[in-house]
Amino acid sequence: MEKKEGKSPIEEVKEKAVKCPVCGKESVKEYFPFCSKRCADIDLNRWFSGVYAFPSEEGDEEDGEALSSAESEEGK
Ligand SMILES: [Zn+2]
Repeated sequence: MEKKEGKSPIEEVKEKAVKCPVCGKESVKEYFPFCSKRCADIDLNRWFSGVYAFPSEEGDEEDGEALSSAESEEGK
């Protein structure tokens, strides 16, 4: 019942080249998973500017907030 395979293919891929999510180049350990400090900064700026903050569609956001606030008032 023992598994003879030490590493799964996925783990091996992780140890090899991971592509920078910003520009697609090979990432480096120092700035993992990015290829350089520049790309790390770019990704950070995206977070701050709210690009990743609300991945849901526009309009969804308003409905969600309205619903949650209504629910909390009912709960009192
Ligand atoms: Zn990059």
